[in-house]
Amino acid sequence: MSASIRKVTRGSHLASPVSKGDLAPKATGCSRDYIDHLAGDISKKLGYKPGDDLEILVKALGGEIKVHPWQEPCHDGSIEVRGFGDFTICLSPFTSELRDRFTIAHELGHYFLHSLVGSKKINIAREGSNPVEWEANWFATGFLVPSSSFKKAFDECGGDIWQLAARFKVSSQTIQLRIKELNLGLQTSHH
Ligand SMILES: [Zn+2]
Repeated sequence: MSASIRKVTRGSHLASPVSKGDLAPKATGCSRDYIDHLAGDISKKLGYKPGDDLEILVKALGGEIKVHPWQEPCHDGSIEVRGFGDFTICLSPFTSELRDRFTIAHELGHYFLHSLVGSKKINIAREGSNPVEWEANWFATGFLVPSSSFKKAFDECGGDIWQLAARFKVSSQTIQLRIKELNLGLQTSHH
């Protein structure tokens, strides 16, 4: 995925620099569990299947993905939402495909949770640790690794972390965290 994005967009013009103030979003204040399930529901409604191409999904939502020019300092990712179905996700040129996938899902979290699908304009870079960023991370995990399909896949793969990482196209760390969060760790013995 990333290779094609990079080819098309490298060096093209970019969203304006991050401005705080009006465009800095507020946290929803929803619980982790709520956001986790919401993200799983949204991915299901969008027809997303584990491991699917996120570039196609973003396009279907009306958004675009760009890669930051390597000459300029940048964050792991950022999103500018201008309105409904009108947003730009910007990725770092230095990251891996799996990292990019998590970043895209994280930025989609901002789109759904913090811009409320474009009804609020936002412009936010991925930086620091604050409730807005935590919520986007919870969303990303719930979106890429929905708890319902993960539990099923966990059984099918006999709890094999590498198989699960390949199936969901996320890092092995994300899988390990998910196993912990969903208390699946104790079932790794064969049956
Ligand atoms: Zn963020």
